[in-house]
Amino acid sequence: MNVNHNPSHPDHDRFGFGSFSYGLYIGGAWRQAAGEGQIQVIDPSTEALIGAVPDATVADAAAAVEAAAGATECWRETPPRKRSEILRRCFELMVERSETLASLISLENGKALRDARGEVAYAAEFFRWYAEEAVRISGEFGVAPSGANRIVVDYQPIGICVLVTPWNFPAAMATRKIAPALAAGCTVILKPASETPLTAYALASLYQEAGVPPGVVNVLTTSTPGPVTAAMLADPRVRKLSFTGSTGVGRTLLAEAAKNVISCSMELGGNAPFVVFDDADLDAAIEGLLVAKMRNAGEACTAANRIYVQSGVYDVFAERFTQRMAALRMGPGVDLDTECGPMITRKAVEKIDRLVADAISKGARALCGGQAPAGRGFFYPPTVLVDISPASDMRHEEIFGPVAPLYRFESEAEVVAVANDTEYGLAAYIYTRDIGRGMRVASKVEAGMIALNRGLVSDPAAPFGGVKQSGLGREGGQRHGIAEFMEAKYIATSF
Ligand code: NAP
Repeated sequence: MNVNHNPSHPDHDRFGFGSFSYGLYIGGAWRQAAGEGQIQVIDPSTEALIGAVPDATVADAAAAVEAAAGATECWRETPPRKRSEILRRCFELMVERSETLASLISLENGKALRDARGEVAYAAEFFRWYAEEAVRISGEFGVAPSGANRIVVDYQPIGICVLVTPWNFPAAMATRKIAPALAAGCTVILKPASETPLTAYALASLYQEAGVPPGVVNVLTTSTPGPVTAAMLADPRVRKLSFTGSTGVGRTLLAEAAKNVISCSMELGGNAPFVVFDDADLDAAIEGLLVAKMRNAGEACTAANRIYVQSGVYDVFAERFTQRMAALRMGPGVDLDTECGPMITRKAVEKIDRLVADAISKGARALCGGQAPAGRGFFYPPTVLVDISPASDMRHEEIFGPVAPLYRFESEAEVVAVANDTEYGLAAYIYTRDIGRGMRVASKVEAGMIALNRGLVSDPAAPFGGVKQSGLGREGGQRHGIAEFMEAKYIATSF
């Protein structure tokens, strides 16, 4: 069923839009929502309408839980090898369709095509990784210290999972949850972000083709995520909530999940420090910062949000990094030479504007950028700020855009203290040629992930997640990600 995609949009044919189905995906079928409402999807580069999807109600949420419940027994009894082969097929289809998927992500999210291609490769990798992990789930066996009995630990699928994802990685944030959940033997209901639903539905049709049985993955979009999610969490058959998004919404959902004591995994906001010591390889640090800051035009939870440069190299670093930032090409995500696409919404641009204006009012200077351009599209230019007051809001808030604030520091102890002066603890970056110092600082910085002389941390084979108010639990990694979707059952026996 094709619902209201906009064939007059110039990019419609270019990206083979007509091949995607936009309905709620429940129980292996495409259907309209119980209500009449629709959610419009906007191209952030042009502000043009590019499609519309159904607006699910609480009744649709109940239908999705019913469908997931109907598929639960069969899927958990499906042999791991078979589950693994289906996941592997999802990986292969994603790779085959990677160019179409990347174009769709770029169109609805606005990110540069090169970033969208990177996202599809990363997103597909979760299916490959969990195809491999599905057949390696093992339990434990031991003798009780008293010698009186044996201890057998069996790992079982946790049950129906509700997955809620953000718009900034519309494919990867979904597959990072769906792949381990399915590998573990769980059925799921995905609620993608309202700004980027098309990718989620395109992937749903791909799962269907790969042989994921009806009801194992269900996808619904809604403009009322609070009541719709609450209705699903209120059903006692739902046993897991895995959320990626802002810390504020995470707190609300934790409170909602508490009512039925539902297991929660939370991938929340960040405020990553990026630390450059005097002895760092400056070429590498600049390249690393361009990745850590500008991947997805800064719309990443792992984005460098505070850049601390030691005083001996501060001036040269600021000058050279500014040259690179000022040269980046800003434009529509789908254009091949774009390096910095638009922000997701007008509201996102306004937030960046507010943070930059606040910093400048407190003494900061913009070495490049610093002002949103007039005209269509939600653009904000690559920006470098210096002389920022510690009282500026951007020291504590996620900028979520292409703005790089540079702060000067003198000593190792000082930079560790300021790096940790935040409620967040997702990612941190350290550049130094002294590996002893790098490891020492890495162990002191309060973050779930540290990139030492690298600008990128994400890897499906490594545990992704944060400490403090950046989250609970881990995604990906050996055992970590799949463990979030399993429960240990202990059996005491003697023979
Ligand atoms: P958001 O506003 O928290 O939204 C995330 C998801 O939650 C969307 O699907 C949204 O639906 C839904 N939602 C909103 N209010 C809800 C409610 N009351 N009940 C249930 N669901 C609700 O976050 P965002 O702006 O999309 O994403 C940016 C944030 O995500 C940043 O803070 C970023 O750091 C974080 N993030 C974290 C990670 C990580 O791995 N730690 C990864 C990526 C992003 P609607 O779209 O319909 O509002």
